[in-house]
Order: sequence, then structure tokens, then C-alpha cells
Amino acid sequence: MIAHVLINRNIDELNREFSYIIPSNMEVEVGSRVIVPFGRGDSTVFAIVTDISSTDDLNEEDRSKLKEIKELVDIEPLIGVEELEIADYIAKSTFSNKIEAIKLFLPPASLGQIKRILVDANSGVRLNENDYSREYIKESIKDGKFKYIYSTSEPKTFTKDILVAVNRDDILTKKQLDAYNLIKSGQFTKKEIMIKLNISNSPIDTLIKKGLVEIKTIKVDHEIQKKDIYNKHELNTEQKKVKDGILSDYKSGKNNKFLLNGITGSGKTEVYLQIVEEILKMGKSAIILVPEIGLTPQTVQRFKGRFEEEIAIIHSRLTMKERYNEWTKIKDGEVKIVVGARSAIFSPVKDLGIIIIDEEHDNSYVSSKTPKYRTVDIASFRADQTDAMMLLGSATPSIDSYYKAEIGEYKLYELKERANMMPLPKIEVVDMANELKNGNTSIFSLPLYEAIRKNLEDGKQSMIFLNRRGFSGFISCRTCGESIKCEDCDVSMTYHRQEGRLICHYCGRTKMIPQKCPICGSTKIKDFGIGTEQVELITRKLFPMARIARMDRDTTSKRNSHYKIWKSMNDGDIDILIGTQMIAKGLDFKDVTLVGILAADMTLKLPDFRSTEWTYSIIRQVAGRSGRGNDAGRVILQTYQPQHYAIQFSVDGNYEDFFKRELRIRREFIYPPFSKMILVQIKNKENIVASRDLIEVHDKLQEYMLENKMKSIVLYPNPSPISKIKNEFRWQFVIKALDSECENIILFLKRFESKELNVSVDPISMM
Ligand code: ADP
Ligand code: ZN
Ligand code: ZN
Repeated sequence: MIAHVLINRNIDELNREFSYIIPSNMEVEVGSRVIVPFGRGDSTVFAIVTDISSTDDLNEEDRSKLKEIKELVDIEPLIGVEELEIADYIAKSTFSNKIEAIKLFLPPASLGQIKRILVDANSGVRLNENDYSREYIKESIKDGKFKYIYSTSEPKTFTKDILVAVNRDDILTKKQLDAYNLIKSGQFTKKEIMIKLNISNSPIDTLIKKGLVEIKTIKVDHEIQKKDIYNKHELNTEQKKVKDGILSDYKSGKNNKFLLNGITGSGKTEVYLQIVEEILKMGKSAIILVPEIGLTPQTVQRFKGRFEEEIAIIHSRLTMKERYNEWTKIKDGEVKIVVGARSAIFSPVKDLGIIIIDEEHDNSYVSSKTPKYRTVDIASFRADQTDAMMLLGSATPSIDSYYKAEIGEYKLYELKERANMMPLPKIEVVDMANELKNGNTSIFSLPLYEAIRKNLEDGKQSMIFLNRRGFSGFISCRTCGESIKCEDCDVSMTYHRQEGRLICHYCGRTKMIPQKCPICGSTKIKDFGIGTEQVELITRKLFPMARIARMDRDTTSKRNSHYKIWKSMNDGDIDILIGTQMIAKGLDFKDVTLVGILAADMTLKLPDFRSTEWTYSIIRQVAGRSGRGNDAGRVILQTYQPQHYAIQFSVDGNYEDFFKRELRIRREFIYPPFSKMILVQIKNKENIVASRDLIEVHDKLQEYMLENKMKSIVLYPNPSPISKIKNEFRWQFVIKALDSECENIILFLKRFESKELNVSVDPISMM
């Protein structure tokens, strides 16, 4: 027999399968790792088997050229056939190599580094694979007698050293006392105490030296997870209809893909929880995806607090060790519920029954690293593959998803009432041009300032939102709010200082900056930008008595810092929370009765056809944070463009009409969902080389498309909106690709990989 393998090297020339003879005494399976001789010196490399075929198809000559596999690494495949199928799909639909796609399913390490150790499932005692026959091992794993444990290094024991309080008859410093009390309250390691209390190791060491605290080694398995129970809510009529409808559609085989369009606060999570409960009863497992970081603590708490079963948590800030632990538990079938950010879609769960994507419109579901996949595509593929259910949920569905619901690919369900039957907060619009006219140059309009002041007086919480996805390269009119747009592409043009001109990054058209606004004739044309840090400073000055916190990328870069802010907000220890998108997503704080949106139109100016969609969505999402408890909420939205349709529809919460209007534009300009946008970028230290190489790729692609009578539209190369990063010049062009031609275009572009092309299909950033 012959094994077809992928070599563990991410080099484009090796991005194909190589064939090896399987020695007669070796039982190789698809998905197992092997060691093979490779290259001229026959040095050995790790490889993964992707296919096995018979030697019969080969003639003697070809056969004699093949080398033999040297060693079989995995008795049990490391990756399943289904997962390999998905990897194949990813490699074809994104600009990536298959080995890169396969690695999405494995813990982060090179193929050779992933160690697996056979242990006795009950005692955890390590076993030697060579002591047992292959059949016996496979049988025992199936019976639950043996199991594999995964790690990057040789795992020793699965224990950890916790601290226990023994006695106390000493005078302690404040830090020592805090540490002592925390140690008494639970099972913590030294490291954990240090992080939690933000102290050095010395107070703890002193406690140990004084004999007040001892180190005790416990088995990690026996760690007691403390959790706050999240009680089941009796579903209201609307929720019950949705739950029953979805489950019966699914069970009867009518549909397996659903879009739940439920307003903010309508209790989507409760519906998820109860549907997951049903799926678990069917003996299947669940993957629940939430936007990166933002929602994780809240959703994790809810799932942990609801189910008896252990839950695996996957997000980008896990340590390597945690990652392997979670992965091991999932692969083992030990956990049946996985909650995590987008990469959790690759969890090796057994008997997948449901994939939920909460806040499905969120941009963090699109990977901006190669492989640049869209999570919903993978989820959809996986759901079909295993007959699982896919459930997307959002208060502001993406245009793509809603369109799919319209054409029947997904079944649409709706929740139109808040779970507590409180009305949605009204959004009050403040025209910032008026404020300016009245002499107010502050970032706070008078109404917003007054509202915050009043909220402080009443002891209520406020949130102030500023979208930092702002981008300073646009020019807009301070009087009417319009930015300068390209007539052909309907996107904001970008100002390039070097050239002193505005450029459209879709089609390459350029323009001088006009002296006067082409819409209203005002001469107040300039760029603007302000950061959350500045907002915090100003807010502290205006409200010196308030307890203020900021949540953005800077303040949450440390482990747990995000959780800490969330917790103090939840505990009512913060009066005003200032933040970016992070505070917009799904958070459920009962005492927030005011939300201020500072520059609502900032997103509108992004040089992207999705800028209106994002604006609508972010406004609805942020507004939805207000009035979630028993007191009605207010939302004050500041904008220079109160008349813009994205702002107006979002103020009314009229998604249906917004969708219709937006879809018309998408159709007219041939944007998704009527095409796939492919962004082709190149970078080089020399500006001239970057542009020359890219033009070459562009011209060859056009030739190829002409020859093959392809109908996708290829636009002209131009410098990227961010035209220089780390001293390298960036150029790009855009393809509006037909769905049916996408795969071929990607395949063609792969020929130019040596030129450091960067190709993204439907990226969230075209910059
Ligand atoms: P969404 O995700 O739709 O914005 P949540 O799932 O956060 O909304 O629910 C909003 C609030 O309503 C939560 O505090 C939740 O506990 C509560 N809730 C959900 N369902 C019910 C119900 N049937 N009865 C009472 N409260 C509910
Ligand atoms: Zn104007
Ligand atoms: Zn254009």
C-alpha cells in the first residue's frame, strides 16, 4: 500500500502530497503521523498521512522510485478523516497551504513536538505503548480503560502545588493578611495568588516560612471548580416558540441551519442554553462560539453555571499548558461542551450535535491570519458533514447571513421583545454640527454631559462608547459630516500625505482634496480622530468624583484584566465605563441606564463597502447595553451625520428596511453577497518593486481570466490605504469574484506565492 503524506514544513513548493510505500508490517491509518526520509540526504521529517491507496495502480518503474515510511508515530490517528476534509476545504477556499489548515485542528506546535502519552484512564499511571498490541490499545481506548494525554513536552504528573492555610497566630502585614485570607478561601497556587492580589512572591514566602501556610500537591483532576449557579429561566412565549421551532425543524430533518434575529436583551443565551441541553440529551456535544474576549467571561459563567458537566474553554489567551489540557479533554470525549472564540470551531469534539455562533455579525469571527477563514463557513461545512445543527444569533445579523436566510439557506427565527418585557431604550440623536455652532467644542454634547451628571447623582451606571476602529486617513466635512467618496465604488477615499491626493482603494481613482465640501459647500474640511485614553482624561476632569474605568485593547492586554473590569462593573464598583467595541458586545449589566455614543459616524468613513453595515450594527449593539434591568435606559448618540440612512435606521431599530436598502447598494456595485471580494496585497522595501510585481500579477490574472472566459471583475492596482508598514511599501488590488470562479482564482494566484503575495477572501479590513 501507498501512503500519501503532507510534509511538516510550510513551504509552498511542498504544498502537495508525497507518496511513500507502507512497509508490510506497519499498519498506517489516515490521520496518523509518520516519519519519512525526505530530500537529497534522506534526512527524516515528520509527516501526516492524508490518504492511502493501493500499489496496483502503479507500474513497476514508478513503484521502484518510491521510498518507504520509516516509522509510524501514532497508533491512533491524531486527526480524523472528517477534519482532514475540512482542512482540504479551507486550503481550497482561502489562500493557504493544506498543512497550515491541518494545524488549525491541532494544538499549537510543530507536528513533531506534539507528544502523546498513553495512560491508564482511572489511575492516570503512564503506560508503555510497546507493552501492548495495537489492537489491545485501540480496544482499551474505546472501552475507556486507556486514554491519551497530549502535551508539547513530556508531561510528568498531572498535579499542581496549591497552598493551604494551617494556623495563624502571628501579626501579619496587610499583604500577608490578604494572601492568607485568599489562601484560606480556596485552592490556589502561589502564582495564582500573586496574580489575583497583584503582589510579589515575598509575602507568600514569608507565610510559608512562618509555618502559617503549607504547600500541598493535589491532582489537577480533583480541583474543585467554584461556580455561580446560573438558574434556568422559564422561557417566555416567544423564546419557547423559537426553541421548540428550531428543535422540531432540526429533528424532523427539515433544516439544520438557523439564524436567530433577537433584539438585545431578548434572552438569546437562555434559548441557546436550553437547546444545548436538548442536544446533550441526544448524546451529542456542543460548540458555542463567542466573540474573542468581549463576551467570554459572561457566556462562560452562564454555561458553567448551568451545566453539571465540565466545560472546555478555548480562547487566545490560554497558556500553552491550558491549551493542551483543554484539547486533551475534548479529544478524549471527556467534555461535551466547548465554549470559545473562533478557533474553538476546530475542537476535536466527538459526536458533534450543535454549533452556536453568538453575535454572529462580529468581525472577530474572520481570521486575519493565514489561513484567513470565516468561522461561519467552517461551521456550516462541519454541520453538514456531521448532520449537526448550526445556530447563528445576533441582534444585528450580518447582511451576508440575513441574505442567506432570505434565500432559504438558513431558517430565520426572531425574538422581538426583551426578556424582562422592558422596552428597548430610545436613542436620542445629537447633531454635533449644532453643538459646534453653539460654541461647544468639547467631545461631550450638552445633553450627554447632563445625562451623565444626572446618572451619577442617581447612583446609576453609564457607558461611553468610542469606536476606535476609526481610521485617520479620511477627510470629512465638519458641517455636513460627509466624507469624500469614489463615484464608482461608493467607498470613502483615503488621503495619502505623500502624494497629497485622495485615493480610492478599490479602483485606484485619485483626486485632489477639494477646497469646499462637494455636498454642502462648507470649507471646514479636515480629518479627525480621538482615542479612548483622551476620552478618559476628559471624563475624569469633568466628573472628578466618579469611579471611572476604561476597557479597550490597552487596558485589557494583561491576563485577567478584562475579567477584572467586567467583574467590578458587574459588582457596581464602576460609575462610568469608557470603551471601544469591547463594551458593545452582549454585556449584560443591570444597572446601566445610560449609554453615550461619541462619534457614531466614525465607522462610516472607513474605506470599506461594509462601513454602513458596521455602523448600523455597532449603534444597535451599544445601545442595547442600556436599560437591561428594571429601570428604563437612555442612549445618546452624537453624530455629524444625523441624516445618514445607517444612523437613521439604527435609531429606529429598523433592520428590515436597512437590510433592503443596503442590499440594493450591494447589488448595484456587485459587493458581497453578490460576489466575493478578494484582496491581493504585496509588500516590498522598494515601492517600485512592490508596484511592479503587483501589476505583473494583476496583468497575468486578467490574461488568464480572459482565456478562460471568466466573468469576475478585476480592479486596478494602487497603494494600500496604509501604504507603508515597518518600512515596507504596500500595494493592492481588488477582485469582485463570482462564487463559482473564486476557487480557480485562488489557485491561479498561488502560482505567485514566491512574491510574498497576501491574498484575503472577503476580509474584514481592506487596508
Ligand atoms: P441577549 O443575549 O439576547 O442580548 P441575554 O441572553 O443576555 O440577552 O438576556 C438578557 C437578560 O434576560 C439576562 O439577564 C437573562 O438572564 C434574562 N432572561 C433571559 N430569559 C429570561 C426569561 N425567560 N425570563 C426572565 N429573564 C430572562
Ligand atoms: Zn459638507
Ligand atoms: Zn473607486
